[in-house]
Amino acid sequence: MHTIDHTKSIIEVSNISFSYNEEEVLKDVNLSIHKGDYLGVVGSNGSGKTTLLRIILGLLSPKSGSVKLFGQDISDFKDWSRIGYVPQKVINFDNNFPVTVEEVVLMGRYGKLGLFHRASKRDKQKVDEALKHVDMLDYSNRPIGDLSGGQQQRVFIARALAGKPEIIFLDEPTVGVEKDVKEKFYQLLHDLNEKLNLTIVIVTHDIESMASEAMHVACIKDNTLVFHESIDDLFIESHGIINKHI
Ligand code: ADP
Repeated sequence: MHTIDHTKSIIEVSNISFSYNEEEVLKDVNLSIHKGDYLGVVGSNGSGKTTLLRIILGLLSPKSGSVKLFGQDISDFKDWSRIGYVPQKVINFDNNFPVTVEEVVLMGRYGKLGLFHRASKRDKQKVDEALKHVDMLDYSNRPIGDLSGGQQQRVFIARALAGKPEIIFLDEPTVGVEKDVKEKFYQLLHDLNEKLNLTIVIVTHDIESMASEAMHVACIKDNTLVFHESIDDLFIESHGIINKHI
């Protein structure tokens, strides 16, 4: 049975506030993510999910508050290969994009490689391993543009895995994805979390799936982040239902 190691804090967000110009998006947000966790961050469109993610990844600076990654203040943190990121809208590539699946995944090794180093045998081996985890090894030499949206998404997860991260963040990974592809995708995340003990944070508006898939769900509403111990609470809050059994 999979357990979370509560002694190992990977991400510690304390009292974060953030505004774009005059518009306050986040206010006093606190978030703690432990090793082995599978967290869904949900909220309606425009609630601030991507903004929070970008702050945690150091792409935006908060107005106030602090972010610690692996126990270190984000301004001192250097070891970004410990963190994998699967951005939004990786799907629907230009079909003429002239790179192979293997080359895309190799990009995930640049954090380890440095931009100007040639890929070694070990890098190739890590790329193969990552492709194997997402069941896409047979497609190594295919142009990325030839694959379906769901297959491309698995390749981008492999790219994030190739750097051997301890945590991966995924931003709205199931937008525009068909139901059966979505089910396979969630199965993959479940396996990565359980078998590799990979910590997973997924930012999504897909509350229904998170209710059954994630171990914890946090919801951004009215500029702040609320944790939900029970999935019933979450449904009551997000759908405005007083008693969902009535
Ligand atoms: P979500 O990911 O939950 O859809 P976002 O974090 O993208 O929400 O956006 C939160 C709010 O901040 C929205 O009202 C959005 O319009 C605004 N916003 C996002 N990015 C910018 C930006 N670069 N400049 C100004 N406002 C922005």
